Amino acid sequence: MQNQTAAAHPDLHAPVKFLKGVGDYRARLLAKLGINTILDLMEYFPVNYIKRQLHATLAIAQPGEFISLTAQISWMDIRPTKSGQKILNLGVSDGTSTMICAWFHYPPAYETMFKPGSLIWLSGTLSEYSGQLQMMHPDFEIIESPDDAENDWWKGRPTLPVYRLTGNLTQKVLRRMIYNAFYTHASEITENLPQQLLDKYQFPPRKAALQKMHFASALEDAEEVRARFAYEELFFSQILWARHRYYHSTANNGITFENISELKSRLYKSLSFQLTKAQVRVLREIIADMCSPNQMSRLLQGDVGSGKTIVTVFAMLLAVENGYQAALMAPTEILADQHFTNISKLLEGFDLKVALLKGGAIKGKSTIKEELASGAVNIIIGTHALLQSDVVFHKLGFVAVDEQHRFGVEQRARLARKDQHPDLLYLSATPIPRSLAMSVYGDLTVSVLDEMPPNRKPVETYVRSQAKIDLVYKEVRAELAAGRQVYIVCPLIEESDKLNLLDAIRLFEHIKTKVYPDFTSALLHGRMKAKEKEEIMLAFKRGELRILVSTTVIEVGVDVPNASVMIVEHAERFGLAQLHQLRGRVGRGADQSYCYLIQHFPVTSIARERLKTMAGTTDGFVIAEKDLELRGPGEIFGTEQSGLPRFRFANILRDQDILKTARLDAFDIIRSDPDLQNPEHSLLGINYRRDYTKREELILY
Ligand code: ADP
Ligand code: MG
Repeated sequence: MQNQTAAAHPDLHAPVKFLKGVGDYRARLLAKLGINTILDLMEYFPVNYIKRQLHATLAIAQPGEFISLTAQISWMDIRPTKSGQKILNLGVSDGTSTMICAWFHYPPAYETMFKPGSLIWLSGTLSEYSGQLQMMHPDFEIIESPDDAENDWWKGRPTLPVYRLTGNLTQKVLRRMIYNAFYTHASEITENLPQQLLDKYQFPPRKAALQKMHFASALEDAEEVRARFAYEELFFSQILWARHRYYHSTANNGITFENISELKSRLYKSLSFQLTKAQVRVLREIIADMCSPNQMSRLLQGDVGSGKTIVTVFAMLLAVENGYQAALMAPTEILADQHFTNISKLLEGFDLKVALLKGGAIKGKSTIKEELASGAVNIIIGTHALLQSDVVFHKLGFVAVDEQHRFGVEQRARLARKDQHPDLLYLSATPIPRSLAMSVYGDLTVSVLDEMPPNRKPVETYVRSQAKIDLVYKEVRAELAAGRQVYIVCPLIEESDKLNLLDAIRLFEHIKTKVYPDFTSALLHGRMKAKEKEEIMLAFKRGELRILVSTTVIEVGVDVPNASVMIVEHAERFGLAQLHQLRGRVGRGADQSYCYLIQHFPVTSIARERLKTMAGTTDGFVIAEKDLELRGPGEIFGTEQSGLPRFRFANILRDQDILKTARLDAFDIIRSDPDLQNPEHSLLGINYRRDYTKREELILY
């Protein structure tokens, strides 16, 4: 029933499948791009704009020029390269001359997409090789009929929007859907900012701004309106934090611990090392927070190996010596086991009951649950099994969450509400520049471990080209002979629209039969069953396997101190944050560790810069700053980095100024009108509640 109504009069917030020209199949593709409603489609902004130079012909265009033209496909050819990749060549002609288009990596769908005789619209930089005109990785659109070349709204305009695509969706189809959305629904677009703010910043009205984003006639125009959307996005998110602050700071809803310091002193004295200055400072911040009446919600950020665990154990002891229970939740069973072993060892002779709780039917599990309920267990370490409703605590006072970004907001909220609002400490090994913490985490207070324990040997890192791989294997053999273990990391083909990369299985066969047949090795990849993965990982941990060939699944904090070498294949394909996380797997023992970053050509200048950064520093914060600096070109909107929330329009590095003003404005408004009930905030309130009610339920407990 509801669907029929929606089909008859779909409004802006109706599912996008009801829009003319979309339907179920395309709606599923659009969902992959985060487009669910008709309005989402209108707000799906271009990632780039291309200048179309009309009437360019191959006969007069010069190598080095950026041109756009319509041509006819003459032939297609796919040939393998020596490194096992494929090159797709496409011969085209525009009637004045011929050109070859080439792709070094491309989605498999391309192989069946180009039909000789079809017209194709192409855009890219012209080059020349042995007298033959070429275009590498051009933007293109296959044109079914000659009229298509100049369809609808963009006809005759000097720029064309370019959108991020998925599956076999094409620019042309997406452009037409966006056009249809505006054609039928533009009049329904309402303003969502108060008039006073529109006046203050002279922002264009929302409808005009949206249209301009898609149909801009110059890049500069698009940038001008982009600022409005970045502001909007940051402003609404800051309204959320402002409300959080308003309701939270008056809540006094947490536990007020007393800084007793009996157990803590005992642990301190039993340690075989001195805490670093950073650990002492951070611990003081945490203790002050725990001893205040508000519920703690604190992020502990520190690079891999900076010693977050020991800090967490001190905080747990504070809860325990106040008569409360403490919990530590980890995202995987291996990590939970690891923490359990380490923490049990640290607290040997403390006369405390430390227990482990994992998922599934495990012997002794019901006993542990009983002991949790009775209070016999003081410290519990576990996986998300801790969140199950039948896990009842006697008196839970403190919860730490390791690798916090691996848990959903819902899961975190469930923890926050458990029993009597335990103090919460979120651990993160994703270094985020301090300047960004506010935009990323809002009002979560942040503690930073920015110092490594002494006597750590930084991992020696080398960038080597694929051609020199035999030399690398020879150097690594010396480490293996000395008893060390080795990780070999390679990216894996995951979905059809991912880049075509080196095949993990073939690499493993090569390593096992040709390179190191005399050492034990195994392959680990994301498509294996969890049980199988765990067995391999444990065998590697025990040293029964000397070499682990793996896709990036080893990223999560596994600790094998004897593994001192990492080889990363196709290192040019990895982002900086990911490389840093990977490298953190080595350098955990007393031995000097090594990391070889293997680059396969062609390597872009940005990729080269990334590898240089990795070779030059092991400081996670330096790497994070560089990461943000290197992003941007090629990516007009948003910031993509593991562990960071995604903004669609705002770039949290570049839009710091916008963020600051948006934050001040939002806090001002909430101070005078916390529930957005004044008439001048009515539209703001409607828009805010539609998008944020669910998030509020999770955050404003
Ligand atoms: P993280 O969880 O931040 O990656 P861990 O807490 O696992 O790091 O610490 C890594 C290793 O360093 C552990 O073996 C730990 O015992 C050790 N460690 C922690 N703090 C210090 C310190 N101040 N001095 C020397 N070693 C330390
Ligand atoms: Mg850790």
